[in-house]
Amino acid sequence: VPTIGVLALQGDVREHVRALEAAGARTLRVRRPDELERVDGLVLPGGESTTMWRLARSFELLEPLRKRIEAGLPAYGSCAGMIMLADRIVDGAAGQETVGGIDMTVRRNAFGRQVDSFESGVALTGMGDTPYHAVFIRAPWVESVGDGVEIIGRADGGPNAGRIVAVRQGRLMATAFHPELTGDFRVHHYFADLVRRTTEEE
Ligand code: GLN
Repeated sequence: VPTIGVLALQGDVREHVRALEAAGARTLRVRRPDELERVDGLVLPGGESTTMWRLARSFELLEPLRKRIEAGLPAYGSCAGMIMLADRIVDGAAGQETVGGIDMTVRRNAFGRQVDSFESGVALTGMGDTPYHAVFIRAPWVESVGDGVEIIGRADGGPNAGRIVAVRQGRLMATAFHPELTGDFRVHHYFADLVRRTTEEE
């Protein structure tokens, strides 16, 4: 059984740990570079991306995270974690950096200007036929993606219908919503499968 880390600097770490364990993974909370070395995949949770970035810097995790992701570590980011995995951000805090890895531009607090939090059905490619009941909390959206990025989910209905809210690029994936909160762990299953397949290949 592969070990999936949850970046545990800030955010809803416990909920992701539970969801991953429900999906059959072994988990490890990651706060130090040596813990990062021990995982086969990594979840970057929801929370607050500027705080997560500052803590990653002071815990000396930013460069190790970049290196491992560049070297092919599977990673999944939810909400603030999506921002962390974006190569480019719009409306970030002054000087805000990301880990990067996914060739996309993410707009921080994009939905938040109109409505702080909401729920919506999202059809997710490769995760079954029923729409995913997605919870958005001061969520970003994906403004644009590069050629290698597959769009796997778009917001459905309302003024923001069609906005990109889930993407995958090889071993990296991200959602603007919080699949750890609803008890429907399809996204965590999907990621755990991706990690399993990657470890079998290597
Ligand atoms: N608005 C937050 C940020 O900028 C993300 C919110 C969330 O993760 N629920 O990081």
